[in-house]
Amino acid sequence: MMRQYELLERVQRYNPQADEGLLNKAYVYAMQKHGSQRRANGDPYFSHPLEVAAILTELKLDDSTIAVALLHDTIEDTDATRAEIDVMFGEDIGRLVEGLTKIKRLDLVSKKAQQAENFRKLLLAISEDVRVLLVKLADRLHNMRTLQFMPENKRGRIAEETLEIYAPLAGRMGMHDMREELEELAFAVVNPEAHGAVTTRLAEIRIRNQGLIAEIEKDLSEKLEKNGIKAKVYGREKRPYSIFRKMERKAISFEQLSDIIGFRVLVDTTGDCYAALGIVHTTWPTVPGRFKDYISTPKQNDYRSIHTTVVGPGRQRAELQIRTHDMNAVAEYGIAAHALYKDKGNGNLSDESRAYTWLRRTVEMLAEGDTPEEFLENTKLELFHDQVFCFTPKGRLIALPRGATPIDFAYAVHTDIGDTCVGCKLNGRMMPLTTELKNGDEVEIVCAKGQVPPSAWESIAVTGKARASIRRAARAAIRKQYAGLGRKIVERAFERAGREFSEDRLKAALPRLAQQNIEDMLASVGRGEIPSANVLKAVYPDHKEERAAPPKTGGNGAVEAGWFGLKKGSGMMFRVPSGDPADASHAIPIRGLHGDMPVRFGDEGGAVPGDRIVGIMSPGEGITIYPIQSPNLKDFDDEPDRWLDVRWDIDAANRERFPARIEVVAINEPGTLAQIAQVIADNDGNISNLRIVKSAPDFSEMAIDLEVWDLKHLNRLLSDLRERHVVSSANRVNG
Ligand code: MN
Repeated sequence: MMRQYELLERVQRYNPQADEGLLNKAYVYAMQKHGSQRRANGDPYFSHPLEVAAILTELKLDDSTIAVALLHDTIEDTDATRAEIDVMFGEDIGRLVEGLTKIKRLDLVSKKAQQAENFRKLLLAISEDVRVLLVKLADRLHNMRTLQFMPENKRGRIAEETLEIYAPLAGRMGMHDMREELEELAFAVVNPEAHGAVTTRLAEIRIRNQGLIAEIEKDLSEKLEKNGIKAKVYGREKRPYSIFRKMERKAISFEQLSDIIGFRVLVDTTGDCYAALGIVHTTWPTVPGRFKDYISTPKQNDYRSIHTTVVGPGRQRAELQIRTHDMNAVAEYGIAAHALYKDKGNGNLSDESRAYTWLRRTVEMLAEGDTPEEFLENTKLELFHDQVFCFTPKGRLIALPRGATPIDFAYAVHTDIGDTCVGCKLNGRMMPLTTELKNGDEVEIVCAKGQVPPSAWESIAVTGKARASIRRAARAAIRKQYAGLGRKIVERAFERAGREFSEDRLKAALPRLAQQNIEDMLASVGRGEIPSANVLKAVYPDHKEERAAPPKTGGNGAVEAGWFGLKKGSGMMFRVPSGDPADASHAIPIRGLHGDMPVRFGDEGGAVPGDRIVGIMSPGEGITIYPIQSPNLKDFDDEPDRWLDVRWDIDAANRERFPARIEVVAINEPGTLAQIAQVIADNDGNISNLRIVKSAPDFSEMAIDLEVWDLKHLNRLLSDLRERHVVSSANRVNG
């Protein structure tokens, strides 16, 4: 295991001003925290963060990044806390270590291949700082190097994840060496057969070409030197994974692969690159179509180099990469290299870094920042900050716009999930559906069958899909309610007329009612657009209508008697156009204000359970419920067709309050109002509104809107009010 001073020396080799105290403190702290923890291979656990730090010294990173590497597993795996790290190392380092902790927790979630792109975005969004990613990549590299010590059943997943997520990420950050190593290590695990085959063939070719690489290396170096170009030439074999990918991509066999050896020519200046190219091209025949100039047109990740392929000695094809040392550093270390190699010709760096704007931004930062530390400090990953990425419990990753709620999430998973959603768990805890989702949240949607999304959700949801679905579901639910009401109305009408009700008959009559289907027709009846009498007539054209008179004008004794003789607690009302007054079976059951019927209650005074009620149909609005004593009913005396038999159908277990208005005349003396309010409160009544209607020197008349359980409750309240000496009268309005 590397000693404390060895790590320090490594850092000081490239950064003489490194903060010794910080590095030593981080080393000791992490070592103590990990204590006797062991890795799978029996090594002390601390050797892992130490190796990760060492990898980052190869990338010549600043000392706070090295400290973060030492600390990167402490919050997750030891009793260390963010607060403690903040105090000891400062908030900046604390934030970075916490970022790594978040990413580590993400590793526990299984991921599908098609999710890789989203996952990479999530990583970038969650990292917020390029240093977090650099440490994460080094962490993954060390874990891959020691993968053989992991339990066998975990290796595959880790290697796949490396191939799908981390290696491409390293590539996009321009860290090609890191990318290649990650790929090779993962390739051997993910596809051992292919890896074995390619490696074997490579070994054969190596024997066949023995000395060839060295020969070309020497040849080329001498030629360049003769022409006054200072150059270093390195021969290299292509890596098995890149060979395998090429075979796969081009669907060719190993034999058809021509350029499995390559050379890198490193020179001092851009001018030397082109001079060297000229020498190469006059020495060996070139392979047409293989020349690429990434110096004049850099790649999107700012990779710059000249590529060409020649036919060398022994008719062996060889790929050459010609670049400056600075360009090489960028190619190997990518974003990390920008921290150290200030390119004076900054304008040459890809002006059109299209794919990853942040990379361009980091290059700009490079130009602005004076020190590598400052550069990294300023490089915040602002990419994808308009999105959040959340998981389903099964690990599917869902991308949503920022500000999205679990409602949006539910609809993004499936419309049915959204429509029947009633609650949610965020990271295992029940939370309101209005909660704003955060990156990496695991969202579990709780559904209930037959649920309809409240229309208020439309203003909470931020995605178009959710909003449109909520609107659609609300429309469908309302239509269904109206159709249900319409069905009851039609059934009762048929019953009263002594006619048989059947869907088949209704269907046959649809053309006469100019309706497409039964559901639509019934909904129209429910909305009061088609009188039930018309339906009856359409189905039974020969039916002779017996006009039922409205109750007050019809001289029906039962109704009059009913109005004066309220049966105590009967909870039931019937309007009886004809026949037995006790028979309420014709009446349509009406639940409370939030019941499943699209009904509303008259504005003035309202109706409370126990009141005898009637419904009045209004086209387009459905039914309005009035207590039978309501003076408003006079307006409908001439339209008996609009009257409906309704009755209360209140669920005793699921009670709700109903609005009722009373008028109180009281003596003006101090405390009168308080007394009245007290009586109402003592009786469990809610005052929703109180208005002084008339105020004389000695008396006041006030209108009070109450919420009560039922008629019994209201009457008890009124009689208690009347008992007070300050109250001269108390009466229900409309009552
Ligand atoms: Mn680790």
